Amino acid sequence: MSISLHLVSDLDGTWIPSEGNLGSLRGLEALLVANPGIVLTFATGRSLSSALSAIAASVNVLPQHFVTDVGTAIYHRMEDGGWAEDPEYATWVESRWDTHLLDETIEGWLPLGVRRQPDVFAPRRLALEVESDQDVHRAAEALRTILKERGMVVDVLATGRCLDVLPMGVDKGAAAAFLQTHLPLPRPMVACGDSENDIALFQVADHSILMADSPLDLKFPGMPQERILRASGLGPLGILQVLLSLTTERVEIR
Ligand SMILES: [Mg+2]
Repeated sequence: MSISLHLVSDLDGTWIPSEGNLGSLRGLEALLVANPGIVLTFATGRSLSSALSAIAASVNVLPQHFVTDVGTAIYHRMEDGGWAEDPEYATWVESRWDTHLLDETIEGWLPLGVRRQPDVFAPRRLALEVESDQDVHRAAEALRTILKERGMVVDVLATGRCLDVLPMGVDKGAAAAFLQTHLPLPRPMVACGDSENDIALFQVADHSILMADSPLDLKFPGMPQERILRASGLGPLGILQVLLSLTTERVEIR
């Protein structure tokens, strides 16, 4: 029996194996190759170029789609191997984004201990980081207050020590839901992730896999507890184990 589903996975801490664990990714990729009915999407906080370089060393099976920049862009793989941004999604995100946020003057009003992430220049997202001596959630609240006072209708998402200012209602979940409704993609949608910016993805998926070594737990606010499992194996091995438990297919795990 062939498996048919839409598999949406985060990259860092999720799909990309830790050092010495490449074999588990090969096992997961063997499942994809044996089941062409599985459509793969990577959903990452990285830009497309950063994501492509991050996967170059370990990933053999490329996805059909990329959700990048925490859900503010979608790319489709073309027949020639290139990547094309989804113009309809780009227009929708753009319509919700205040370009003034990208003004150089933001440095003047960011909360204490919050600065721009160096080398991240996404057009529809403001990527910030919080200095190690500051509380991330307090910094996020201070930033929300400042943005509200300035009349900016945006979301602030805290992930680890990073703060992402995103167009209102735009995140990995919005992008995955857009893909699911605008393309003929199979169901169920199965999401895999390990951190706060994956929770929106879990909320739109039919089944979700929280990575074994995620700092979050299944009771973290927003987790769809009835539709999420915690993996027992690390990285791709954990994803493979849960996928196999959701199906009847068996592949050799090397
Ligand atoms: Mg991650």
